[in-house]
Amino acid sequence: MTPPAGPFDRVNRVRLATLPTPLEAGPAIGRGTSLWVKRDDLTGLGGGGNKARKLEFLCGDARARGAGALVTVGAAQSNHCRMTAAAGATLGIDVHLVLSGDEPNDVQGNLLLSRLFGASLHFTGTHESDWHALESARRSLTDELEAAGLAPYSIPIGGSTPVGAVGYAAALVELMDQCDAARIAPAAVVFTSSSGGTHAGLLAGRALLAAQDIAMPPIVAIGVAKGVNLGRPDVVDLGNEALGLTGHGDVAIDPDDVEIDPRWIGDDYAVPTAAGDDAIIWAASQRGWLMDRTYTGKGLSGLLGLAEEGRFGPSDHVVFIHTGGWPALFAEQGRPD
Ligand SMILES: *Cc1c(COP(=O)(O)O)cnc(C)c1O
Repeated sequence: MTPPAGPFDRVNRVRLATLPTPLEAGPAIGRGTSLWVKRDDLTGLGGGGNKARKLEFLCGDARARGAGALVTVGAAQSNHCRMTAAAGATLGIDVHLVLSGDEPNDVQGNLLLSRLFGASLHFTGTHESDWHALESARRSLTDELEAAGLAPYSIPIGGSTPVGAVGYAAALVELMDQCDAARIAPAAVVFTSSSGGTHAGLLAGRALLAAQDIAMPPIVAIGVAKGVNLGRPDVVDLGNEALGLTGHGDVAIDPDDVEIDPRWIGDDYAVPTAAGDDAIIWAASQRGWLMDRTYTGKGLSGLLGLAEEGRFGPSDHVVFIHTGGWPALFAEQGRPD
C-alpha cells in the first residue's frame, strides 16, 4: 500500500536530487541473509549522498524566506558542507562554510569539491568532533552576515533540523514502495547516523506509514558520532516536529522505536576502525560500492556485525541505506588500511 498522494506537499521544496535512488540487490551476509542497498550515494547533487534529500527541503525553506546566503558548518571533510556548496551553486545563492581545523596547504576530498563549487570557507581551528565550538562559530558568522544585511539562512550541523528531516521521511516512503515492487518485506532498515536528522526523518516516515496499518521494519541506526543530537529525546523531538511540518502532527514517533547501536564508532567520530576498513574493502570487492572511513564504512561494519551475531535469519532481507561519503576516500588518511 502507498500513502495518500503527496504526504509532503505542504513543505517547501526545491528539486536538487536525482530521485528515486536505486534499490540494489547485494550478496548474502551473516547466516545467508539477503543484503539490499538503497543507493543514496547516488542522489547526484555535487557527488551525492544523504544530505541532498535534506537540502531539497532546507533550500525550499531558505528560498521561501528570501535568503540571500546559506551558512552551514561541519568537519573539514564534511559531506554536508560539500553538498550545501553544490546546492548554492545550483540555486545561485552564496554559501559560507564554517569548518573545523586550519586551512590545509593541500586541499583534498570534500574540501576540494566545496571550494570548486565556489563556497567561502571559514576555518575555525577547532577539533572536528567539537560540535559545540563549531556551532557557536556558525552562529557568530550568521550574526555577522545578518548585520551586513545578507539575510543568511543558517543550517545547523548535518542539516539536522525538522525541515531537513522531512527529506528522510519522504525517503522511507520511497524505499518502502521499492520494497513492495521487489516483493520483499525487510527485517530491518540499517543506516549510518551522526547528527540524527536522517534517523529522525526515517522514524517520522515509519510512524506515518505505521499509522496507515502498514507493517514496518525496525529502523536501526549505527552511531558514528558522540554528537549532541545522538540522544533519544533529540531524535524523537526532531522527527515529531518534522511530522508537524508535513501536516501530520496527529502522528507521533514511539520512543521505543529509537534504536542506536553505538558499538561501531571506535575511539571517536572520524577516527577509523579496523572493522570499518574491512567493510570498505568488502563493499568495494563485492559490487564496486564506495564507502568512507567516517560514515558508511563504520555503518556497514555495524550491519555486517549484527548479521554475524545472528540478528537476521537466512530467509531475511535487510536494507542498508548507503548515505554516501566517497569523496573522503581521496582525502588525507581517507584510504582504508
Ligand atoms: C551526514 C552523513 C551521515 C549521517 O547523517 P545524519 O543525518 O547527520 O545522522 C551518514 N553518512 C554520510 C556519508 C554522511 O555524510
